Amino acid sequence: MKEVRLVGMSGIFKSAGGQEAAQLSEGGEPQIAAQWARIRGRLQSEVGDVEYRTWLRQMTLAGIDGDEVTVHLPTRFLRDWVRSHYGEKISKLWQIENGRIRRVDIRVGHGRPGLAESLAEPPTPPANNHTDMADRTPPSAPSRTAVGRNGDELSVPLDPRFTFDSFVVGKPNEFAYACARRVAEKPASAGFNPLFLYGGVGLGKTHLMHAIGLELARGAGKRPTVAYMSAEKFMYRFIAAIRSQSTIEFKDQLRSADVLMIDDLQFLVGKDNTQEEFFHTFNALVDAGKQIVVSADKSPSEISGLGDRLRTRLGCGMVADLHATTYELRISILEAKATRAGADVPSKVMEFLAHKITTNVRELEGALNRLIAHANLFNRSVTLETATEVLHDVLRAHDRRVTIDEIQKRVADHYNLRISDMGSARRARAVARPRQVAMYLAKQLTSRSLPEIGKKFGNRDHTTVMHAVTRVTELMGTDAGFAEDVELLRKMLES
Ligand code: ADP
Ligand code: MG
Repeated sequence: MKEVRLVGMSGIFKSAGGQEAAQLSEGGEPQIAAQWARIRGRLQSEVGDVEYRTWLRQMTLAGIDGDEVTVHLPTRFLRDWVRSHYGEKISKLWQIENGRIRRVDIRVGHGRPGLAESLAEPPTPPANNHTDMADRTPPSAPSRTAVGRNGDELSVPLDPRFTFDSFVVGKPNEFAYACARRVAEKPASAGFNPLFLYGGVGLGKTHLMHAIGLELARGAGKRPTVAYMSAEKFMYRFIAAIRSQSTIEFKDQLRSADVLMIDDLQFLVGKDNTQEEFFHTFNALVDAGKQIVVSADKSPSEISGLGDRLRTRLGCGMVADLHATTYELRISILEAKATRAGADVPSKVMEFLAHKITTNVRELEGALNRLIAHANLFNRSVTLETATEVLHDVLRAHDRRVTIDEIQKRVADHYNLRISDMGSARRARAVARPRQVAMYLAKQLTSRSLPEIGKKFGNRDHTTVMHAVTRVTELMGTDAGFAEDVELLRKMLES
C-alpha cells in the first residue's frame, strides 16, 4: 500500500465516485460484508479477546468509496486510539482481503446495521452526549465544502479540527502560516497564486490547507467553492473518469472550483498523464482568476520527475516552506494540545516529550494523545513514569546513543553551568554536585569504564567517579526532588 492516510473526519461522507460505490453495493456487498467479518475475526485473534472487546468491538463498516473504506467508532477517544494502535493493522488486513482497497479512513460515527444502508444514506454525524474526553472538543460540524453540478463531491471533506486557530505558530512555520492566512483572506491575489507549501512529513501542510478551506467556508457572503484533495485522489478520480468516459465532466467540475487545493503533489512524480491533466486544470483556473494551493514534500525545483512547465508554473506564485520544529515550538504545541484535550499534563512530561520526539508534530501529537488516553482509561494522572511506560515503543524508536559530551552539555544546561565546569577543578557544591550527576549518568548511560569517564571530567581518577556514582545513588534515595531531577535528565538522554 502506498500510503495509509487515516484522516480524522467526522463530517458527512458520501461517495465521490458514486459509480464505483454503486457497483460495489450492487454486486459486491455481501462479499464486502464477508471480508469485513473475516477482518474482524483476524483482529480478534491477533490482539486477543480483552483488547478486542475494549477497543475494536464497536467498529462498524460505514462505507466504501472506490479505493477507500470508512470505518466508524462512536467516540473520538476510541477513534484516536484505534487509529494510532490498530490503524496500520486494519489497513493491512483490508489489503489482504481486498486488493483494491488502498486506504482505511477511521472516523467518528455511529454504527449502521448494514452496509447497504450506509451506502444509500450518509452516516449520522457524531452525537454529542458522551462524557469521555473525546467530546470535550466541540463536535465537528459536517463540512461538506463543495458539490459539483452533478451532485458528486468536488472535494473530500475537511477535517474540522484543522483550523488556523488550532495551528500553533512559531519560527519554523510562521511564514507558511502567514501565506496561508493571506490566501484565505484574499484568494487569488497577486503574488500568492499559486501558493506552494512544502516541508517534511507531519509538519502541518495538510493542516494549513484545511484551515484555508475551513476559513473560506466560514466567510460571510458568497462562499467560494473549495476543492481539496490529495494528488493521489486526483489521480484516481481522473482514471475513473477516463474509464467511465466522463473526462469532460471531470474537467468541468474541477474548473468550477474557485479554490483548488492539491495535497502531496509529489505523488504525481512519474504519472505523466495525470500531471498533464493537472497542468491544464491549473492553467485554466489561474487564467480564470482562481486560487491554487499545492503542497509537497520538497520545493518545486527539488521535485524531480515533474514536467518543466508544471514546475515553472508552480514556482511562480508564493513558495513557503515549513521547517523542522524547534524545541520551543514543540513545547507550545504540546501545551496547546493538552489544553484542548482538557488534560493535565505536567510541564516535566512535556519537556521530556519535546526533547525526545523531534521528528514531527504528528508523532509528538500521537504520543501525547496516547498518554492522555492511557491516563483516562486507567484513571491515573500523567507522570514521567507513565510516560516512559506507555510510550516505551515510541521512545525506543527515537533513541540514539548518548555520548559523554552530550551528557555534560545537558547537565551543564540544566544546572546553568558552563561545560568547562564539568572538567574544572572547582569544588564548590554548586559545581561539584552537577558534575557528580553527570558522572553518574555517564556510568549509567554509556558503556565507558570508570577511568575513561574520569578522563573526560578533567582527568579525574576512577575512584572519584566511583564516589560520584555512590553519592548520587545515596542522595536519590533520600531527596525526592533531586531524584526526580536526575531521572528527568536520564530520561532525556537515555539511549
Ligand atoms: P503534513 O501534511 O505536513 O504531513 P499535517 O498537516 O498532517 O502534516 O500535520 C500532522 C499533525 O500535526 C496534524 O494532526 C496537525 O494538526 C498537527 N500539526 C502540525 N503542525 C502543527 C502546528 N503548528 N500546530 C498544531 N498542530 C500541528
Ligand atoms: Mg499531509
